[in-house]
Amino acid sequence: MTSDRYSVLFEPVTIGPVIAPNRFYAAPHATGHGWNQPHGANALRAMKAEGGWGTVAVQMTEIAPDTDMASHPMERIWDDSDIPRHAAQVEAIKKHGSLSAIEIAHGGMRARNFTTGTSVIGPSALPILRPEVPVQARAMTAADIKSFRESHKAAARRAKAAGYDIIYVYAAHDLSILNNFLSLRTNQRSDDYGGSFENRLRLIREVLEDTLEVAAGEQAVAIRFSVAEPGKIGGLRHDGEGRDVVEALAELPDLWDVNISGWSNDSATARFSEEGFQQPYTEFVKTVTSKPVVGVGRYTSPDKMVSLINKGHLDLIGAARPSIADPFLPQKIKEDRIEDIRECIGCNICVSMDAYGVPVRCTQNPTISEEWRQGWHPESPAITKQLQSHLIIGAGPAGLECAATLTRAGHKVTIADTAKEAGGRVTREARLPGLASFIRVRDYRVYQLSQKANAHLYLDSEMSLGDIETFDAENIILATGAHWRSDGVGSSQLEPQLISHPNVLTPDDIMEGVLDKLATSTVTVYDDDHFYMASCIAEAAAVAGHSVTYLTPLPSIATWTDFTLDQQRIIDRLASLGVTMLPNVSLCSDGTFKQSLSGEILDIDSSSLVVVGARKPNDDMFDALNVARAGCVYRAGDCLTPGIIQAAVLSGHTLAQHLLNRKPPPAKREQILLQTI
Ligand code: ADP
Ligand code: SF4
Repeated sequence: MTSDRYSVLFEPVTIGPVIAPNRFYAAPHATGHGWNQPHGANALRAMKAEGGWGTVAVQMTEIAPDTDMASHPMERIWDDSDIPRHAAQVEAIKKHGSLSAIEIAHGGMRARNFTTGTSVIGPSALPILRPEVPVQARAMTAADIKSFRESHKAAARRAKAAGYDIIYVYAAHDLSILNNFLSLRTNQRSDDYGGSFENRLRLIREVLEDTLEVAAGEQAVAIRFSVAEPGKIGGLRHDGEGRDVVEALAELPDLWDVNISGWSNDSATARFSEEGFQQPYTEFVKTVTSKPVVGVGRYTSPDKMVSLINKGHLDLIGAARPSIADPFLPQKIKEDRIEDIRECIGCNICVSMDAYGVPVRCTQNPTISEEWRQGWHPESPAITKQLQSHLIIGAGPAGLECAATLTRAGHKVTIADTAKEAGGRVTREARLPGLASFIRVRDYRVYQLSQKANAHLYLDSEMSLGDIETFDAENIILATGAHWRSDGVGSSQLEPQLISHPNVLTPDDIMEGVLDKLATSTVTVYDDDHFYMASCIAEAAAVAGHSVTYLTPLPSIATWTDFTLDQQRIIDRLASLGVTMLPNVSLCSDGTFKQSLSGEILDIDSSSLVVVGARKPNDDMFDALNVARAGCVYRAGDCLTPGIIQAAVLSGHTLAQHLLNRKPPPAKREQILLQTI
């Protein structure tokens, strides 16, 4: 039963000629399942439709070979041979009563065309908008512009033939040729498409009109537009040309899908943004147009969603990451099961997968991208084995996920942890600056377990080898985590070092509060892990008043955070706190540091050295247990393979699936049939 409080979210919304059954709008987002992995893509989006998203959108879809995004697996609608794949996607979404939308797009100066080998095109002859890629765009001639409009129209016709309800005109981010034409930075033309605001807007208006002509009142036409480009010199402002665009085109599209650009702003992590962070930029749009407006902002709170509707800021609640983390978010709100929502933690592991060109993964939802491949469902695990009993040691993300999945399927689980609080590493890491939302990984699962009579969670309960050996359970699962090494072993140093520093600390010490007990001092943080941990420690130490130096052997700071779109913000934050950052500096065995370019030994005098390197599994009991209880001892999470939290959750889930199913079918593979087009 939907509580009256949330009933507004389940009102239908008219979008031009189509009607969305509710206000939940699964926004276009990269899935990593591109044109060549259609089964995975279809099943992923169908799951969102099943979970109650009234509209489900397909990600950026290249309209023609001259917008080839190369290693980023986008969708394609290059010619008629793509239509059957899209028709299958539409069918999969509509089967659950949802509207289907497609974001057809031309990447302009963000395309690379490595596959097709043709010129990248844009308004002006300039380097493309990926400074690290040595490619320039060719300035489009009048004939090129005509040809682009034709190919956009042709793509819209194919989208129509496939049966989509909503066809996009994509003018958002700097990932769109339309944005390239609008921006003074990238449009240096002096013809009818350059110079004045009206001229730079011309192509967006023309393409909107072209698409409306193709739709002919049968499909809705949406425009996706970034109203602001915060932080970009000369970028759009929501109180400048961003607003002017909405005013100029206000009533032309059937739907405004608005956000902020670039992607690092649009998908900012929780470390640097709150739920609803886009609202100050986008809330003006509804005051300018009478057409429905959808916006995003990592919305997971139904009360916040209701207030956005009631205050007239949005008509539809857009979500990419929250719909990845919980494809059943709408249904849970409908059934007033708010505590069951698996809230996005804003960590951007999903985003990082796009850079590798692989299917999306999620810290909170281990079943994402496995809907088709392994037949996993986020709410109901399949079960073919008889009910069993399991003892899980460790209530970190791996143990909790394993327990939650097993108990959901009716198995009996006892889970014990030494700590007084559940959560393992997420409870500890959530204390670090900016990582408070990590606690949701624990809270969702602990709540699930609290609702099950077949789950027994014991805290403050250290389990010895003897306790475990004699415990009455069919299976023993070690989810005992890992600990940070203090011997200098890290990603770029595989040999242990004899570090002579008098006060070597690890992230475990920091999370136990060791730093808080030190008088204000000098702290060196050595990062050979390259994700968020070292930067969080440096930030915490600086905020606590220590004088901090951050060193790393790699040429850039917190290198892997580039994949989660955080790196620049981390550098800015540390710089603003006065942290000295030195890349290309390696830790030597005598505890000194060497500048790897010059060979110079650096004189860094610090009272504490925090080494952030590799971790060692806490698996001491495994071999002995394997002798005592052969065949029924398992490991999951960091105790099996130290890694990121998402990997621990996935590992716990994978083990549970194994224990639930007698003989899980082999994972399916997408296989391309030999066919020449
Ligand atoms: P993961 O990320 O793999 O879930 P964590 O490090 O987050 O691992 O969690 C491991 C948990 O296991 C910690 O909360 C720790 O207290 C618990 N633990 C480790 N050894 C034992 C033990 N012998 N008895 C009970 N709990 C244990
Ligand atoms: Fe949210 Fe992280 Fe999952 Fe992405 S990976 S959807 S940011 S929880």
